[in-house]
Amino acid sequence: MTDGGRFQDSGKKLAGFGGEYLVQCPKCDEPAQIKDGRLSCGNCGLSLTRSFHRSPMRSDTGHYYEHVDTKNWFGDVTPRAKMKDRSIPPRCRSCNGEFTKLSFSPRPKTANLPRSLHPKCSHCGAPNTIEIGWHPFLTPDQPRDPVFGCKLLLQKDFKEGTLYAYNTAHAEEYLSYIEADHRGRPPTPGSSSFFTKLPAWIKSAKNRDDVAQSLCQMIELAEKQS
Ligand SMILES: [Zn+2]
Ligand SMILES: [Zn+2]
Repeated sequence: MTDGGRFQDSGKKLAGFGGEYLVQCPKCDEPAQIKDGRLSCGNCGLSLTRSFHRSPMRSDTGHYYEHVDTKNWFGDVTPRAKMKDRSIPPRCRSCNGEFTKLSFSPRPKTANLPRSLHPKCSHCGAPNTIEIGWHPFLTPDQPRDPVFGCKLLLQKDFKEGTLYAYNTAHAEEYLSYIEADHRGRPPTPGSSSFFTKLPAWIKSAKNRDDVAQSLCQMIELAEKQS
């Protein structure tokens, strides 16, 4: 199924393939579509929007907050201390020492998320209360859309991780990359792209046929939705 050839990387990042997403409806689990910030399900009629208040991206560490609020967000959430100035880390109310190692771990969004954390100060041991807010959390290895955090329709589990695509065009370009005999680098030397950042197991020759076959199935599935 390999037709070889050369693939020229346009330098697009993961977000560059977004805008439209095929997902599983969060209400009925049937295929739904996200376009222009609106989620629409043809099966149950669900129609949702999300406001686009972008908060700082943290692409350097691999995770990012696409939106600050969690209304109509279905992915994981992560707590952050509520502060006037987010650049200032919270300090101990007893010794004024900085909390450098707060264990803020992401978790699924549930109804009863705590509104405060109660860490002990690492400098003086005093108990503290830190008011927290919850924010959308997504890493590039999670097969979810970055607008609503819904499970992507086009995904396939492998032993090493999950292969996914946002939409037909994404799956098609992905397939050309996987099938190419020569995978060209992005036009700007030293820059990273969606393809250069793919995990090694997706790029490996060993998985090439299985990955290509899964992408073909995704394209077929996506075409049934249009
Ligand atoms: Zn639905
Ligand atoms: Zn302290």
